[in-house]
Amino acid sequence: MNCIAVVIRNSSRIGCRFQHHWVKPKGFDTGVKVYNCTTKQKEPLIIRNKNYLTWYTCGPTVYDSSHIGHASCYVKLDIIQRILKDYFKYNVVTVMNITDIDDKIIRRANQENVSYADVAKKYEEEFWSELCDLGVTEPNVVLRVTENMESIVSFIEKLVDENKAYKASDNSVYFSVDTCKAYGKLQNIGKNDKQKSSVKRSVLDFALWKHSEDEPHWNSPWGKGRPGWHIECSALASKAIGSAIDIHAGGIDLRFPHHENEEAQSCGFHNTSQWVNYWIHTGYLHKKHSEKMSKSLRNTVLIQDMLQETTADAFRMACILSKYRSNMEFSKDMLKTAENVYGVFKNFITTCDDFKSQYLKATINHEHLIAALNKCAEDIHSALCDDFDTPLVMKHLNELISTTNSMLHTTSTSGHEAMDFSSVSAVQNFVMTILSTFGVNFRSSSSSSQDFGKIVDILNEFRQSVRITGIEKRDKEILSLCDHVRDSLKRHGIIIRDHGKQSSWSN
Ligand SMILES: [Zn+2]
Repeated sequence: MNCIAVVIRNSSRIGCRFQHHWVKPKGFDTGVKVYNCTTKQKEPLIIRNKNYLTWYTCGPTVYDSSHIGHASCYVKLDIIQRILKDYFKYNVVTVMNITDIDDKIIRRANQENVSYADVAKKYEEEFWSELCDLGVTEPNVVLRVTENMESIVSFIEKLVDENKAYKASDNSVYFSVDTCKAYGKLQNIGKNDKQKSSVKRSVLDFALWKHSEDEPHWNSPWGKGRPGWHIECSALASKAIGSAIDIHAGGIDLRFPHHENEEAQSCGFHNTSQWVNYWIHTGYLHKKHSEKMSKSLRNTVLIQDMLQETTADAFRMACILSKYRSNMEFSKDMLKTAENVYGVFKNFITTCDDFKSQYLKATINHEHLIAALNKCAEDIHSALCDDFDTPLVMKHLNELISTTNSMLHTTSTSGHEAMDFSSVSAVQNFVMTILSTFGVNFRSSSSSSQDFGKIVDILNEFRQSVRITGIEKRDKEILSLCDHVRDSLKRHGIIIRDHGKQSSWSN
């Protein structure tokens, strides 16, 4: 066993006979510490290969529109992946599954009188489109359940062959939890021996293959049916990455039973004591007075509705201002705070630009500012190494821009020396680089196609009002200026058409 240290804890739960343990991996120490739900403390992030790390994220079951609880999970994970890639410079290989067959998908298809594949395709497309709107980077590899049924069946076959799974009287196949001594390593569970199942050997056993004669079904050595949810991730992640994964991520609600079951059956399949070295779980996003946002609780806000109220940058900022493991309370105030913080940084960038363009005369203390920059860079490095503490990073950045702003707003009396462009540029570059590491880009054009349309709308409406005034007052000068705006925009591919007093545009 590749073990440097083994952390063993006896469960304090009465009736639980399992020991919880995490094996510190062998490999390259990144210098980053990550919270570990088994040892319940931060542990050094050691990756198996210095040149790349593997990351698997549980993807969605595509039967409905995604809500902002999903958004917070995928945005927070995107921020951590960006930190590992863009700040620590690791080659992060990312994999995600899409659950495109499930009882909920079939139910929806029956309600809408369409095929299950149509439902899955529609909501998968919507999912990727919304992740794109939120600025989330697509995974390197995406695997759909229906496209990998053979791999899933052969995964189960091996477990059955090795007596780690069994076919029960209902013709479904179950994983035998008793064959996994470390079951419960992610979350303490008490085993209640008094509870019995009429079908399964143990109440904790879970379905790998669900027998079903109803369409859609797939053939297997145990008859027709569909795979259980947990086995999909184990089979697909093993297919893409193999017998050991550096990081496996998802929302905290997946820790038990989903991730526990994934780990148990994958350890059984690969004959190892640890399949995933690090589990990363994001906290809930919930509305006030409710614990979790979920479709079954009917307390959801859809991503598309949220993006009508605020921008993707503001939502991302809200995620940055919260520790990834913490729960977030969704409210107008939360969004307002995030928008304000975004505005403060945006203003800072503009103020730096004004200073460099010499619209703003200021007194800059070079030594003082560079010392503040150096201190901030060190503090931010420590915060990022400490379980990706983004709120603390924002606190340090805020202090740096306060120091810089106070200099930028101190009027220069003359001083050629006082106009120190290099230190202000250094701070501006640093702030923008760190925020861009989190996926916030103040000068990005990628998220601006929607903004572009809105801006042209505003310009068109303004020109239309001015033109109406020109027509009513028969003012040739105003009308000539309106024509000038129209001709100028045409040179940039925007066509303005006047229809009487109304104007429309296209590009
Ligand atoms: Zn999963």
